[in-house]
Amino acid sequence: MIFRRKEEEKKGADACILCRLCDAGSSYPLTLDERRSLRHAVWLAKNRRESAWLYAAMLNGVGEKACPIGIAIDDAIIDARRRMVEKGMETKENREFFAKLRQGKNPYA
Ligand code: SF4
Repeated sequence: MIFRRKEEEKKGADACILCRLCDAGSSYPLTLDERRSLRHAVWLAKNRRESAWLYAAMLNGVGEKACPIGIAIDDAIIDARRRMVEKGMETKENREFFAKLRQGKNPYA
């Protein structure tokens, strides 16, 4: 595959050129909602913005494989989510999810 890069060549969100090729791996093509695009999530990570939309990104590796720059998209988004949690800014849904887990309940019910 011509665009496949080795793991050690992966770049951070700062290198994003906002080309949108990664959106094949997001729900954007179905919804046409920019906030649900991987490009938007990478932009949030790049600009150190906290947003619940970081959780709309599907971390399935598809977008990362499509990125011509070789950005470690999933890692960038996970790091951005981690920063939110460290600042106590996790979403209401996250808090409820983990509260159910701690109680031994099904977090999806
Ligand atoms: S494919 Fe890569 S460079 Fe293009 S918008 Fe997505 S993360 Fe940015």
